[in-house]
Amino acid sequence: MDSPKMCPDCSGVMVEGFILDMTYGGRLVPRWLRGKPEESIWTGVKTSGKECRSVESYRCEQCGLLRSYANQEVDAPGLFGK
Ligand SMILES: [Zn+2]
Repeated sequence: MDSPKMCPDCSGVMVEGFILDMTYGGRLVPRWLRGKPEESIWTGVKTSGKECRSVESYRCEQCGLLRSYANQEVDAPGLFGK
């Protein structure tokens, strides 16, 4: 979190950001969930009870490479989204 991240390809500076998911319900920040997706008749994919982390993406200012990190644990999105 302290030292700036460097691009593994070109050694450029990686800038923190996130990828926005556009859905019918609005905008969602992507989440990383442990395991394989299980289908649910309610929400499409089952999320409850799974380890869930928010995803940060870093972008290289020089070559545009994206790198994602899922460090911060968050609540899995509920039935009605969040
Ligand atoms: Zn780069």
